[in-house]
Amino acid sequence: MTSAQCIVLPDNDEGYPLDMFCVPKHYEKDLENILIPSGLINDRIERMARDIVHDFNQQGLVALCVLKGGYKFFTDLLDKVKLLNRNLEDSVPLAVDFIRLKSYVDDKQSSEIEVIGGDNLDNLKGKNVLVVEDIVDSGHTITKLLSLLQKVQPKTVKVASLLVKRTTRSIGYRPDYAGFEIPDLFVVGYALDYNEYFRDLNHICVINEHGKVKYST
Ligand code: 5GP
Repeated sequence: MTSAQCIVLPDNDEGYPLDMFCVPKHYEKDLENILIPSGLINDRIERMARDIVHDFNQQGLVALCVLKGGYKFFTDLLDKVKLLNRNLEDSVPLAVDFIRLKSYVDDKQSSEIEVIGGDNLDNLKGKNVLVVEDIVDSGHTITKLLSLLQKVQPKTVKVASLLVKRTTRSIGYRPDYAGFEIPDLFVVGYALDYNEYFRDLNHICVINEHGKVKYST
């Protein structure tokens, strides 16, 4: 059984002031607030890992990392799955795979979603695949990826997304595992970028106008 339940951050969530946590000096002027501190991200992922180990007990799993934004979530989630594998009665044999997609320039989604790198998807034939994504916004990227995956005939496909955005652009897609549902804001940090900046920020933060201008293409 999988769970689509997650922590819901309301629209009026103002996050935390920047000076309450540690933020790199070079980003201090570019952020509105800290929406999800890294400690909370870590604790939520711990529970997602437990749910995954419970659901996939004894079944082999290929975790497919959607680069680049998903890399932190992917490594932290898999570290926790591996820790549970060593310590629980349940355990999940794990393999890893990578795919790189591109869909955003500045904070605007480009009309085309491109696969711009990664392994040969044919390796996933007959496997249980867990797609590990950073964020589902409209849902176009993940549904496009899922239709690509179906062509190589995996045994099953599930999706874990750290974030799901509450937006009128949504096509109604919900991942099997979700960390947090967030308001319709452009967020950065924890490997989520704005034109390749902010991946080196550990908290998930809301970018401000100053940051958008400074790092626009
Ligand atoms: P979708 O196709 O669901 O609208 O968008 C999914 C992709 O857009 C994500 O994998 C991510 O790369 C990017 N994206 C969507 N919203 C955000 C956001 O708030 N911040 C960042 N950094 N990327 C986002």
